[in-house]
Amino acid sequence: MNTSIRYHIVPAAPEAHLFEVELSVERPDPAGQLLSLPAWIPGSYMIRDFARNIVWLKAFCDDAPIDVAKVDKQTWRCAPCAGTLTLRYQVYAWDLSVRSAHLDTTHGYFNGTSVFLSVHGREQQPCAVEIAPPHGEQYGNWRVATTLPPDGAARWGFGRYRANDYDELIDHPVEMGSFDIIEFEACGVPHAMTLTGRHRADQARLARDLTTICEYHIRLFGEPAPMERYLFQVMITGDGYGGLEHRSSTSLLCSRDDLPLAGQAEISDGYRSFLGLCSHEYFHTWNVKRIKPAAFVPYDLSRESHTTLLWAFEGFTAYYDDLALVRTGLIARSSYLELLGQTITRVLRGSGRLKQPVADSSFDTWTKFYKQDENAPNAIVSYYTKGSLVALALDLLIRRGSGESKSLDDVMRALWQGHGLTGVGVDERAIETLIAAVSGTDLSEFFDQALRGTDDLPLAELLAHCGVEFNLRAADGSNDKGGKAGTKNEQPRAVLGVRSGKDRAGAKLLNVHDGGAAQQAGLAAGDVIIAVEGLKVGNDNLEKICASYGVGGRIHLHAFRRDELMTFDAVLQAAPEDTCYLTFVEGASPAQEQLLDAWLGGVA
Ligand SMILES: [Zn+2]
Repeated sequence: MNTSIRYHIVPAAPEAHLFEVELSVERPDPAGQLLSLPAWIPGSYMIRDFARNIVWLKAFCDDAPIDVAKVDKQTWRCAPCAGTLTLRYQVYAWDLSVRSAHLDTTHGYFNGTSVFLSVHGREQQPCAVEIAPPHGEQYGNWRVATTLPPDGAARWGFGRYRANDYDELIDHPVEMGSFDIIEFEACGVPHAMTLTGRHRADQARLARDLTTICEYHIRLFGEPAPMERYLFQVMITGDGYGGLEHRSSTSLLCSRDDLPLAGQAEISDGYRSFLGLCSHEYFHTWNVKRIKPAAFVPYDLSRESHTTLLWAFEGFTAYYDDLALVRTGLIARSSYLELLGQTITRVLRGSGRLKQPVADSSFDTWTKFYKQDENAPNAIVSYYTKGSLVALALDLLIRRGSGESKSLDDVMRALWQGHGLTGVGVDERAIETLIAAVSGTDLSEFFDQALRGTDDLPLAELLAHCGVEFNLRAADGSNDKGGKAGTKNEQPRAVLGVRSGKDRAGAKLLNVHDGGAAQQAGLAAGDVIIAVEGLKVGNDNLEKICASYGVGGRIHLHAFRRDELMTFDAVLQAAPEDTCYLTFVEGASPAQEQLLDAWLGGVA
């Protein structure tokens, strides 16, 4: 391809975690070319200032050094150049996450947002990318996994790739190393999963289960799939978790123990969660990568981009991720109800849900959801979890309101037709209008309450309609995630109203819940409780000891705030009924059975 913008990237010093990039620009801006690196990466709504990892940067005009000066934290201006402008710079890559770049002697990974400067005024132009291998015999078995379109590079090989514009350039992360490759087809589209890191996973099972999930989503939106191929780039560590969506790939971080071993037939909680993550990121191929909020068309990567719509783009995706698992039969209906019960529990455990509307949580994600502090449970609600419950409520409302002729699936397909295929951004209120049109039901009151209000959603009533009972109980302890019936206690458990963690001296308070016993006694997040009634406590036994004093029991506590020893008197409260589990109604009517089949049953 004949392009006037060419990038060359090499893992120059894996042991020092350094990539080196050479960018050449023909016919640069005669007034002095501006170049910059994004402040954030689409899908992860936080200012990360990737330019901070540029160690040095030099500019040349036809090989002669020229001046280059910083204009702001992420932008450079080169001295005027009449020939070919070349930038050479080094990027430090030592963040093992799906959002930036990581390089050591075992593998390399980067997102374009971390390594490729944009050439101002030329963002719409095609560019060439040469990905070079590291020097040294020990890297002879390294390969490349990316969905960047090849332009001479062999399959899984180093060499030349291309991108039609800057937006495409930064939407195909690159993995390099000696990873395993699993290949499969979904609805005729070639798919692959690469596994980096030590593991003993059953690769045939992964291929089988992923084929099921991918084909489900492709058929939900309608064939043909919008991408020519798809890649799951998986990094395996001891305790990793995370994912980031791209237009034809996803980068995932997972725990070794979450992957299935050969010979294991059942589905562990960890594997269920891994499949849910794969399903989630894959659904984004449509919902947020192609159906986008108008605020992201185009992305302004230099600063925050606000939208109230993440309840739909993350929430709907979080609803469909596990729903696909039950609808395809990968997990049982009882297992799905357990997951749903856990999600409801997560929302109910935070009193922030009674203060922050989910639309506001979306708008303020940059400074609140992505920058959670010790007060987060008291102040904010997650647009993932509450958003997925809004999706559930909408699905059940649309089904009921349309006499079971429509569902949220129809809304997703309408969004795909009207926005995904056309590239027209979704305006802030457009989803509400579209749902009204698809369902033929006026849901404006529901939207005002669910999105812009803070009342709990009417899930008990909606679920009862299709034969599912909504039950609440108090938590059995801090490890109780909900979703299951739990033990029946005669007496309510006495609690301090905190979440705590290990500390060398005692139990460190991580969150202090609004209105709880600890807060009323004057304890604060960060305090380290060292004794109850004069006896030493740790994080392991604080909960049990408090419970033993019973509801209404008064306890005398010693705690350190910073280096000061303080004493507190707390009156223990009954554990709140904030733990949800869902059960199938016994003796459900045939009509209820039918609704349940339509909701959780097979492919739409
Ligand atoms: Zn997501």
